[in-house]
Amino acid sequence: EPVIGVLAMQGAVREHVAMLAEAGARGVPVRRAAELSEVDGLVLPGGESTTMSRLLESFELLEPLKARIAEGLPAFGSCAGMILLARQTLDGRPDQQQLGGLDVVVRRNAFGRQVDSFEADLDFAGIGDGPVRAVFIRAPWVEKAGDGVEVLATVGAGDGTARIVAVRQGAVLATAFHPELTPDVRVHRLFVDLVRQAA
Ligand code: GLN
Repeated sequence: EPVIGVLAMQGAVREHVAMLAEAGARGVPVRRAAELSEVDGLVLPGGESTTMSRLLESFELLEPLKARIAEGLPAFGSCAGMILLARQTLDGRPDQQQLGGLDVVVRRNAFGRQVDSFEADLDFAGIGDGPVRAVFIRAPWVEKAGDGVEVLATVGAGDGTARIVAVRQGAVLATAFHPELTPDVRVHRLFVDLVRQAA
C-alpha cells in the first residue's frame, strides 16, 4: 500500500486522508520536511494559496518540497494546491511562491465574483463510468499549458469559453476543483495509480 502525505497546513486534510484510504493508499499528514522522505507521493489541499506559501516558508518546507518535486515526487494539488504546483500565477500576491512541477500558468480566483462557487459535471480523461461532479470554490483555471501537459478536463466559463480545470504532467496531477468534497473517489484513485506507477 503506498504511503501518501497530505500537506497539513490548511484545508480539508482529513477528507483527503479518508479519500486516499478508500482509494487504496495510506494517507498521512505532513508538516515537517523530515516527513517528506517517508512518503511516496503528496497531496496539496485547497485553502488560500498566499497563506499556504507563507506557511510553507515558516515551516521550512518550501525549499525541501520544491527539491522533492523536482526529483519526481508524485503530487496532486487541488485548487490552491494547483496554484502552488504551477510555474506561474496570474492575479496572485507579489509574495506568492511557486513549487513548480507543472508547466502551467494559472489564474487565481479566475471565475470571478458572481460565480465564487459552483458545481459542474465534467468529462475527465482517463476516468470512466460517467462524469465527475466537480465542486469549485473561488477556483483558479489554467490559462496556459506547456507541451508536456495533458489536459484532463475543461469547464464552460460564464463568457462561453472552455477553461482548463484538470491537468497532468508526468506524476503531477492538479484539479481546480475539490474532489475530496464529494463521495466520488475516482480522482484520488487516479492519483494513487500514478504513485504506484512512479514507485
Ligand atoms: N482562491 C484560493 C486561492 O487563491 C483558492 C481557493 C481554494 O483552494 N478553494 O488560493
